[in-house]
Amino acid sequence: MQPATSAEPITSREAAVEADRRDPLSAHRDAFVVEESGPIYLDGNSLGRQPRSTAPRILALLEAWGRELIGGWDHWIELPVRVGDRIGALIGAGPGQVVIGDSTTVNLYKLAHAALDAQPARTTIVADSHDFPTVRYVLEGVAGARGGQLRLIDSDPVEGLDVTSVAGALDPDVGLVCLSGVNYRSGARLDLAGAAAAAHDVGALVLWDLSHAAGSVPVALDDDGADLAVGCSYKYLNGGPGAPAWMYVRRDLQDHLRQPIWGWWGRRDPFDMAPGYLPAAGMSRFLSGTPAVVGLAGIDAGLEEIEAVGMAALWARTARLTDLLAQRIEVRLAPLGAHLFSPTDPARRGGHLGVAHPQAWGLCRLAIDRGLVVGDFRPPDVVRLAPVPLYTRFVDVWDAVERLAVVLADPDVRSPPPRRTVT
Ligand SMILES: *Cc1c(COP(=O)(O)O)cnc(C)c1O
Repeated sequence: MQPATSAEPITSREAAVEADRRDPLSAHRDAFVVEESGPIYLDGNSLGRQPRSTAPRILALLEAWGRELIGGWDHWIELPVRVGDRIGALIGAGPGQVVIGDSTTVNLYKLAHAALDAQPARTTIVADSHDFPTVRYVLEGVAGARGGQLRLIDSDPVEGLDVTSVAGALDPDVGLVCLSGVNYRSGARLDLAGAAAAAHDVGALVLWDLSHAAGSVPVALDDDGADLAVGCSYKYLNGGPGAPAWMYVRRDLQDHLRQPIWGWWGRRDPFDMAPGYLPAAGMSRFLSGTPAVVGLAGIDAGLEEIEAVGMAALWARTARLTDLLAQRIEVRLAPLGAHLFSPTDPARRGGHLGVAHPQAWGLCRLAIDRGLVVGDFRPPDVVRLAPVPLYTRFVDVWDAVERLAVVLADPDVRSPPPRRTVT
């Protein structure tokens, strides 16, 4: 894993303003819809900001639908593979290994089943007890339906998993190891190459959930021995709410795996309408039904700024932003009873940080209600803050922590409104 790059430390608000002025990446903020009088948005790991190019792109699609009608499918049909390849390029996957369709949850289900079907003698799935809920639920369902078992590693909620504890959970019954590249709550990064090597040592396949990694941290799927991976498009990839998810299957596995939802869109020659299911060659076999074309247009627009900057430069800025955030949390929020709920070693961190405090819900809710800072709350007591590098300034990080300190010192933080459905 690449360590964080360190430039001069930022120790004053003026230095933060100066860091913004000097960084050529600062200009990319203008490519996003930002209401400057609005709160500081540190929730781009949950829903990325809207690129200015998204609305024109989606309008062009609507216009094409109006004009071309069914004929539009001549070019829409390629979108799942074409946009998939562009996501692949951001996560170290050569062309023809990423396709877009369905949600991350459904893709996890498809690939977990496919992996286990390919090795029927192995009935155990290994996963992380602190992984994102959908990962645990889907795997619970998959293991249950097959009469297999789900073995959850009791990971450290802050530091995440190391390769030794992954290796310690493995034996020849294990068919699949399914873990996240970046933990959704603490931001802890997994050593994907090391974990893949450990899984392969016992003959298991790996399935990575990269929802909090793709478009944020460096990922090298082909080089690091990944077999399968899935992830969202609406977080760091800026595809917009409900944008369809992507999946990766290593090239030499594709023709050996069968996903369980046999729809016409994954069949060889779908428009033959022929009897019987025959899986298509390559990644198309992992599709099931008609692709979400409007959502794909959103992803197409969302990727542009990331591609223009490149993952290496983005990650370098992310590391500086999260370093500053960690340092300000320590200086301003620790004296008020908060602590960093993320690895202290920058090399083990992803693109967001957690802050734990008994009044985390009140802190998060009041900061939003007062129009100050948008983060999000994750039970039991964590506020997540993501300084997404394309549109978050160093001064935003500085000011956000100052504002959070004011809220945390306010007695009202102890009597917040009740939790809402979406937080
Ligand atoms: C956000 C997230 C998801 C979301 O899955 P959906 O099917 O899009 O709701 C899945 N896995 C992880 C690790 C996530 O962070």
